[in-house]
Amino acid sequence: MEIFGKTILELRKMLDEKEISESELFEYFRKRIEKYNPSLNAFLTTCEISNEENKNGILNGIPFSMKDAFSTKGIKTTAGSRVLENYVPPFDATVFAKLKNSGANLIGKTNQDAWGHGSSTENSQYFTTKNPWNLGYVAGGSSGGEGASISAGLSVFGIGEDTGGSIRMPSNFCGIVGLKVTYGLVSRYGAIAYASSLDTVGPMAKSVEDIAVILEQIAGNDPFDATSTDFINPPKYTSKLKNSLVGKKIGIPKGYLEEGVDPEVSESIKNSLKIFEKFGVQIVEIDLSTTKYAIESYYLIATSETSSNLARFDGIRFGNNRESFGDEAKRRMMLGGFTLSAGYYDAYYKKAAQVRTAISNDFKKAFNEVDVIITPVSPTTAFKIGENINDPLQMYLTDVYNVSINLAGVPSLAIPSGVSNKGLPMGFQIIGKHFNEETILNFGYKFEQETDFFGVIKKGLERYKD
Ligand code: GLN
Repeated sequence: MEIFGKTILELRKMLDEKEISESELFEYFRKRIEKYNPSLNAFLTTCEISNEENKNGILNGIPFSMKDAFSTKGIKTTAGSRVLENYVPPFDATVFAKLKNSGANLIGKTNQDAWGHGSSTENSQYFTTKNPWNLGYVAGGSSGGEGASISAGLSVFGIGEDTGGSIRMPSNFCGIVGLKVTYGLVSRYGAIAYASSLDTVGPMAKSVEDIAVILEQIAGNDPFDATSTDFINPPKYTSKLKNSLVGKKIGIPKGYLEEGVDPEVSESIKNSLKIFEKFGVQIVEIDLSTTKYAIESYYLIATSETSSNLARFDGIRFGNNRESFGDEAKRRMMLGGFTLSAGYYDAYYKKAAQVRTAISNDFKKAFNEVDVIITPVSPTTAFKIGENINDPLQMYLTDVYNVSINLAGVPSLAIPSGVSNKGLPMGFQIIGKHFNEETILNFGYKFEQETDFFGVIKKGLERYKD
């Protein structure tokens, strides 16, 4: 595979053996961005190579991209919105500071639905990102720019933000790997808030091993984020990848692979389950019936929180004035303002919070019986640009399998499992217990090795030659 298809560890070796220099590698990806970004619309901003580096860091010299939702000192940060069109933050998000500290080089900031509101990047106030597998289709959202960039080999890995699917959905639609971490595992400091009790920061990459490598660098306590975990030293995620799965149990929620899911997607997941059975894993049915209320609960809580978070963008301290908000942000602020208002709070916000607790309890009960849970990421493969954008409720439903996971705060790994008849990637997600990322990475890694699903990614990359 040419350089653009290589994983972090493969590039690490090339750099260490001086087959390529750090600046050559950076320039190589910059050229690829120049060549392919005009057709993909993945990047909002590109960066110059930074001088701050850590020669001994595992990520030293590796070019990466970040969703434009993270504050980067001296580099424009828009969150996909015209409100922050000219905003240049005076500080770094912790995740960025940590990656710089590991020696990684930021190559650019990628497109997203404004404020994280959406599933297709069509709510970006700049442009819509195209799916590298078929330019007529969406790349997913809200971290769609990340999905497209990694899947077309324009950056080696990326950082996204997932409030209700925004890492997993674009990973799924673009045929890459994405991890939504346990709430609190990775600091949210400097991430532009969408819904603070649901927001998580996590890696997107071409392989499960890469995800584990990145996670070791970004996980752990941050005094600037009061909700961050107290792990001072995060676990060695890379050392557990090869563990045996014999005797482990996968739970499949009743009805999840039958109703409302594209038969081809469901078939691909069922075939993947057979591979896990070969490893000695037992598949059992579990009950997550409260998750049928997840979309309602999520959209009440997320809009309530976003109405509060977006109130700070008043045009006085930073950014343009409130007229610059797009329609979706306005819709969500109005809805959230309503659900939090006296007289309606009990009927909507409080009820949604109670449902959230019930969903969380359902997950806890299920995890008494099984090690991980497998579900679809999205009911379908990527949809066409324009297909759902005029029907907000239909767009909200595309995250039907994702939002319950954020409500419960548990981790989930989205990985590819095949390519559909239409030539679009398919996949599934592996959900784990709180702070049990090592188990879902272990399951993902074994599957990756056995199926060579990396082949899915390579197939997508074939059309993005140097
Ligand atoms: N599509 C969901 C929403 O619009 C999820 C977005 C996200 O995870 N940021 O709320």
